[in-house]
Amino acid sequence: MSRKVKDIMKYREISLICLFIAIPLNVINIFLGFRWLTILGISLLAIFFIMAFTLWRCPVCKRRLPLRFDVDTDLNDIYRCPYCDTKFLSGEIID
Ligand SMILES: [Zn+2]
Repeated sequence: MSRKVKDIMKYREISLICLFIAIPLNVINIFLGFRWLTILGISLLAIFFIMAFTLWRCPVCKRRLPLRFDVDTDLNDIYRCPYCDTKFLSGEIID
């Protein structure tokens, strides 16, 4: 049995993409110093933080999930809430 919930993994994915573009962009721009790149880099970082703090929540217990990113365990499709132990797979709760 599985139950539909908000697809938090999608939000997480989008926010991480913003972060991974923003970091090298900001580093490169230290040398280039373009004003529009600075604005773009800061905007992408802002999107990451806003999404991480508002949407990256467990849909069951509503607690904010840890921001720590673990490549070994995080990149598979199933995420387990550390508080209520619910498992998610792209917008569905796995029993
Ligand atoms: Zn939870």
